[in-house]
Amino acid sequence: KQVASILGVPFSTRGFRESVDYMVERIEGGKQTHVVTANPEIVMLAREHRGFRAIVEQAYVVPDGIGIVYAAKWTNQPIYERVTGVELLEALMAEADRRRWSVYLLGAHPEVISLAAQKLAERYPSARVVGYRDGYFRQDEEEQIVQDIAEKKPHLLFVALGAPRQEEWMVKYRDQLNASLMMGVGGSFDVISG
Ligand code: UDP
Repeated sequence: KQVASILGVPFSTRGFRESVDYMVERIEGGKQTHVVTANPEIVMLAREHRGFRAIVEQAYVVPDGIGIVYAAKWTNQPIYERVTGVELLEALMAEADRRRWSVYLLGAHPEVISLAAQKLAERYPSARVVGYRDGYFRQDEEEQIVQDIAEKKPHLLFVALGAPRQEEWMVKYRDQLNASLMMGVGGSFDVISG
């Protein structure tokens, strides 16, 4: 069985490497994928908010944090390993480097995102960072941002606006974004730039 249920939230039971392989397979197969790295806070949000729950139920949810691994253990479900956002981002960038995929980065403060984009481009030189944009935009700038992403058709779209806003944002525009895999990455750009 590939899915476990933690307080009603469906989690992938794949380990880290298997998860990355699964995502690569889906990207190469042209299937759009929304990845949610869920920690206990996300599980609680999904329990409390119907709209967010619906988003999570349609996503590929991976266990971000040891709390989820323990919860699975206590309920006899086969989740053995954490699959964290920063590590997934790095692993997907490595795949992008190997396969010359295009990548778009959205979110965080302007100086943070430009430094993160620069660092990722240096470390994964064959991955094509086709665009990046900070996460402090006005509502009336949103359409232009969506259009920029749509035109660039990135294989990977990483969005850091904080949860649950990043998930809501991606799902709202998913049909327009033309991104193969989209994933909310929370504070990852701050980590990468720092
Ligand atoms: N952020 C943003 N726009 C906003 C609010 C937050 O781009 O309007 C960024 C913030 O700079 C940070 C990330 O979103 O890089 C969220 O980080 P946080 O650690 O708060 O999110 P969490 O990990 O809790 O989801």
